[in-house]
Amino acid sequence: MSQDARQWLERIRSLDLPPRVRIMNVCGGHERSITLAGLRSALPPSIELIPGPGCPVCVCPEEDIYQAIQLALHEDVTLVAFGDMLRVPVNVKKSEARSLVEAQAAGADVRPIASPTEAVSIARDHPDRAVVFFAAGFETTTAPVAAMLAEGVPENLSVLLSGRRTWPAVAMLLESESPGFDALIAPGHVSTVMGPEEWDFVVERHHMPAAVAGFTPESLLAATYSVLRQHISGEYFLDNCYPGVVRPGGNPTARRQMERVLDVVDANWRGVGVIPDSGFELTAELAAHNARRLFPSYQDAARRRAGQMPPGCDCARVVLGRIYPDECRLYGKACTPRNPVGPCMVSDEGACRIWWAGGVRQ
Ligand code: SF4
Repeated sequence: MSQDARQWLERIRSLDLPPRVRIMNVCGGHERSITLAGLRSALPPSIELIPGPGCPVCVCPEEDIYQAIQLALHEDVTLVAFGDMLRVPVNVKKSEARSLVEAQAAGADVRPIASPTEAVSIARDHPDRAVVFFAAGFETTTAPVAAMLAEGVPENLSVLLSGRRTWPAVAMLLESESPGFDALIAPGHVSTVMGPEEWDFVVERHHMPAAVAGFTPESLLAATYSVLRQHISGEYFLDNCYPGVVRPGGNPTARRQMERVLDVVDANWRGVGVIPDSGFELTAELAAHNARRLFPSYQDAARRRAGQMPPGCDCARVVLGRIYPDECRLYGKACTPRNPVGPCMVSDEGACRIWWAGGVRQ
């Protein structure tokens, strides 16, 4: 741990802490840094760091993944998706393909990509073949997809978009009877794109401490110190502890592009349900590039899968911070990174996978 991080820890330890403070983060990168740096055990035991809705792959609804699998299997298309989506299982019979990787093994043309530009390149290299880009992600991933669409894409490229907005999930938790946390560490990357102002509502409407953090242990500890000070003093404000990168207003170009090509819609979160205004969809002008419109035949079957989760998987409760990953009864037993049952053990941003990588065992 760096000198800076140690100093932040000392400052935190010197505070007159209450018996229990629960601080939620909503970013897979934050959770990874917290777990791998061992911040939970370094902090006083009264401070609980709770992983919340920070994994877009984990909340991508079953019906979207099912639709992507069916498209790959039954249409003459190349289906491209970010790598960690390929292994996410859906809840179907053993005789059917449970994931895009299994569809690939059954002969479907499924390819992992690392960026939207790769999807464009594949479409350009195969002009006679339909290419479907299954794009799941929060604002940070959706912004480059929007940029790709705004700049114009080849005719044969369409997008099956499962984009999600982070703040409505936090708002839903805060508006519930029992939010389950006392302070928020807001996501640095999302704030870089959308602006830190997205999180003002936490302070203004819900009177809760909040601080935007970067991804180093020092930045996370600075944000932790800030929300603890706020909690103790009762004077709340949105603190930007990532000021070199997160600027007021975010990234205006990215936001303009998103507004131009995407509509905000109500969206289903896997295992959680529909959250108002929490999703992105392509605008009507881009219907020719919207895979949902181009391949409507799987919509009904996909819709019937809404709300499904793998049996026994507690991902939804993990995502909402209701339980810790190791409180799922399948964690480390039936469910491991090698044989994942649910998406939280598949994605690099999933809390279960992160805790397993951090050596947390039941
Ligand atoms: Fe789901 Fe596996 Fe995590 Fe349990 S341990 S919540 S089954 S991903």
